[in-house]
Amino acid sequence: MSGYELDCVFCHIATGDHPAEILYQDDQVVAFKDINPQAPWHILIIPREHMDSLNDAAAQDEAVLRHMLRVASKVANQVGIAEEGYRVVINTGPRAGQSVFHLHLHLLGGRPLRWPPG
Ligand code: 5GP
Ligand code: ZN
Repeated sequence: MSGYELDCVFCHIATGDHPAEILYQDDQVVAFKDINPQAPWHILIIPREHMDSLNDAAAQDEAVLRHMLRVASKVANQVGIAEEGYRVVINTGPRAGQSVFHLHLHLLGGRPLRWPPG
């Protein structure tokens, strides 16, 4: 599924219809602070185009998926956590903790992160 979903909060953030603390945006993606941060830096990176989850990513989405990772490293640099280290996570499906069904990449940093995650 691709495009814009009327009842999707991340689609509304992408269009500017829902407020968010945006740290970076371009024609393909938006990066903004998570409303319920799990680390001193907790940033979400979303494609502007709606996709429910990574399960819905198709061949034509490869460019934006690649770009999301590049933007993660760019934003990590921008906020000053690139050298000390950070983590990127994509929760996929309810059992993995996905609660918002618009694909998003979590960028977490600013504290030590344990492994394995819970
Ligand atoms: P998930 O659990 O789906 O992997 O991650 C969803 C994330 O979105 C959660 O960390 C949650 O705090 C965040 N979130 C949910 N609604 C909003 C919102 O309206 N604004 C922002 N900035 N973050 C949100
Ligand atoms: Zn959406």
